[in-house]
Amino acid sequence: MACVPDEIVQRGKGKCQICNERDADAYWMASPEYFYVCQGCAVEKLPTLIVDSMRIMDRDRINTTLERVKSAFWRAATLRLLREVRNND
Ligand SMILES: [Zn+2]
Repeated sequence: MACVPDEIVQRGKGKCQICNERDADAYWMASPEYFYVCQGCAVEKLPTLIVDSMRIMDRDRINTTLERVKSAFWRAATLRLLREVRNND
C-alpha cells in the first residue's frame, strides 16, 4: 500500500475505518477504494494487524519483523520530512 500525503486528506471528508469515530488523518490506496485511518488507530491498531499477519510466531520471526517495521517507519518518516521541506520552499 502506498501512503498518500495527508495534506491531500481533507478533514471531515473521510472517517477512520477502524474506529469509525474520528476524522481520518491519512489514507492509503487500497483496492478498490481508499482506506482511511486516524492517527490514534494507526499507532494503536496497525501493529496488531502486522502481528496478526505473521503466520509463524517465534522469537526470530518476531525480531526480524520488528526490525522491518522499524526500517519502514524511519523510511516513511524521512520521506515525509523531505516532502514537508520541499513544500515549505
Ligand atoms: Zn480511528
